[in-house]
Amino acid sequence: MPGEIFDFEWFVNGAGYRLLRAEKVRDGGQPVWRISPNGDRHEGAERRWLIAANLPAGERVFQDKHYNPLSGNSCLFLAFAEIDPEPEKILAFANKYGLLGFEMENPVSGTMSLTSPAEFISMWKEEITTMQRALDLWRLVEKQDIPALTESLAPYMRWIEADTEFRSGNSTGAHDDLPRDLDPKWLRYFRMNPHCLDWFRTGNVLLPARCRVQAVVNEQLTGRTSPRVLWDDAERSRWGLYFVPNSLAGALWLQMAQAITLKKDYRRCRQCNTWFEIDHYTARTNRYFCSNACRSKAYRDRQIEARRLFDQGMEAEEIADQLGSDTVTVWGWVNRGNPRE
Ligand SMILES: [Zn+2]
Repeated sequence: MPGEIFDFEWFVNGAGYRLLRAEKVRDGGQPVWRISPNGDRHEGAERRWLIAANLPAGERVFQDKHYNPLSGNSCLFLAFAEIDPEPEKILAFANKYGLLGFEMENPVSGTMSLTSPAEFISMWKEEITTMQRALDLWRLVEKQDIPALTESLAPYMRWIEADTEFRSGNSTGAHDDLPRDLDPKWLRYFRMNPHCLDWFRTGNVLLPARCRVQAVVNEQLTGRTSPRVLWDDAERSRWGLYFVPNSLAGALWLQMAQAITLKKDYRRCRQCNTWFEIDHYTARTNRYFCSNACRSKAYRDRQIEARRLFDQGMEAEEIADQLGSDTVTVWGWVNRGNPRE
């Protein structure tokens, strides 16, 4: 079905990943990123963190573990956008889900045997920030929070004319008079949608914000996902049109694209704090926890907490208040029977 993400297989290096320092040096006139095992450094050379697959001693090839990152994990993009962009935190994510699948601008060579898949941490950071900002903007659009939207958009746009003049000045769609310092994402968006300025009205930030989210998501999807005709049934008698990610980064942005187009709803688990998708048909009791396991754990924790407070001498009414329960339930938990008996 169009809009579906086909089962997507990705890989994690079996021996995990590590952080390395790479240095940009000239090799026969060509700039090359090089890793020095001894930490030697060339004066003034540009240095960057690199995340690279481990190759255990004596091994010649990387042993990849193939897996399906999206199955049962419709919120992976939310977890990704929340990575604290420190090298160690990025490494932890990569060890679990693999590299993002960036094309590297330069082959990395070095005295260490690094013919490996490797990615710059700076590219990860940029990707995380881009997704974080797009998500923030989308959430504000959903809430229709006009003051916050106005503030968020301030770095990317400004109203330079009354909307009527704006429209007439751009009716050709050429936008020759666009400010030169305009954000490149906008410039590309305006080129693709030459009449979009006609839709904007001075001071109305909601539509520009939606366009901005659309512009970012479309840019990030470009070249990272492909439409594919795939079998739709086990008998191989029907085809379906699917979007297939080319990389983990593509898969994460496809998830985001699904989230905004299908107006999906997400919530944080009250027990483990991870995101989960709210299925509107799910029983009410399940809606605050990502799983039955977390719901049971939260219930047990509340019982334990109730007994602790009770042993400290707190009144059942007060405990019920504090734990968001009722007195009878709390009496049941502390196993002291009904107070009226
Ligand atoms: Zn949970």
